[in-house]
Amino acid sequence: MSTESPTPDRSLPGGGHPLDWLDLREKEREEAGLRRRLRPREASVDGLDLAGNDYLGLTRDERVIEAGVRALRTWGGGSTGSRLVTGSTTLHAGLEAELAEHMGAEAALVFSSGYLANLGVICGLIGKGGLVVSDAINHASIVDACRLSRARVAITPHCDVEAVARVLAERAEERALVAVDAVFSVDGDIAPLAELAAVTRRYGAVLLVDEAHGLGVVGAGGRGAVHAAGLAGADDVVLTATLSKALGAQGGAVLGPRRVVEHLVDAARSFIFDTGLAPASVAAALAALRILRAEPDLAERVRANARALAAGARAAGLRATAPEGAVTSVLVGEARLAFDTAARCAEAGVRVGCFRPPSVPDGISRLRLAARADLTSADLERALTALRYATS
Ligand code: PMP
Repeated sequence: MSTESPTPDRSLPGGGHPLDWLDLREKEREEAGLRRRLRPREASVDGLDLAGNDYLGLTRDERVIEAGVRALRTWGGGSTGSRLVTGSTTLHAGLEAELAEHMGAEAALVFSSGYLANLGVICGLIGKGGLVVSDAINHASIVDACRLSRARVAITPHCDVEAVARVLAERAEERALVAVDAVFSVDGDIAPLAELAAVTRRYGAVLLVDEAHGLGVVGAGGRGAVHAAGLAGADDVVLTATLSKALGAQGGAVLGPRRVVEHLVDAARSFIFDTGLAPASVAAALAALRILRAEPDLAERVRANARALAAGARAAGLRATAPEGAVTSVLVGEARLAFDTAARCAEAGVRVGCFRPPSVPDGISRLRLAARADLTSADLERALTALRYATS
């Protein structure tokens, strides 16, 4: 058989190379200031990182590192298979038990990422013939899960509880799920969880809350926004979380009533057909969780640092959101300007996040500043000096 590729017939519909359109798209993104580039960082960076999600500063904590290294030596580099075959270790079971206890849930199930946890729980609980109600600025993993679920999807305006109630009241579907981020990842505001739970309860729907930015940060001891809203352990509320932010590791989890978790073991495709989370990540997350439980004031420390960043930015005449978790965002406007401002912050030694379309709507690009529990007052001053320089 010849391995030579046939000469393309340029006279066919479409002409040209089938990937030529990529060059056009790249040019368009470049011109609109929307081209993204990977910037691999070194392990030891000079400067201050306010772009990452290591909210409690635990990623490089010696106890977390040691737990990960020990797990690598004990279990090897990977989990060797899917959770239902060889990929469940006693470490996974231990993390599930302690995470559930910490957040006041009956049971937990560890996934390979928070993204896959959202796919697994939404597609596992709702399908064709069902309804998912999703907040307009929910995380992309919820958006993608809604699409994949094949349920009818109703998008409601941001934090509009009445709109959620209306959609639920007027639905024809029997099964319904309302999905919402606990803490919104860009602006850092918290969803009205008590009100949403009252509505889902009234209309017989399940409430799914993504605690990616709540765990370790919000509520007493960082037990999350659901716990803070008095909903921990509710039999109609399900949570997802990531192990990659406050817990400084990698992976995700679903938490909630035991019957939900048991159902997902049998039904969540992103659980069943994915290799189990690497033991080193599980052990690192478990070590971080134990640190958080032993030092519950870490959560308040990160929130106080976020408030200090926002207050400093406002004092400099900038429009900063009021942080309820670790994050504050500074409104810039046009994508190109946001990109240039973030680059100037980096020049001044402070790395900040830059959110442009499609992560946020056109015209409201912004800088995202993520506080950490271990920031000193000198770090805060350095961050604000860089911000003033970048926006002057
Ligand atoms: N949900 C939210 C709200 C997030 O911000 C993220 C991460 N950016 C995820 C889910 C996905 O978590 P992971 O990175 O563990 O896949």
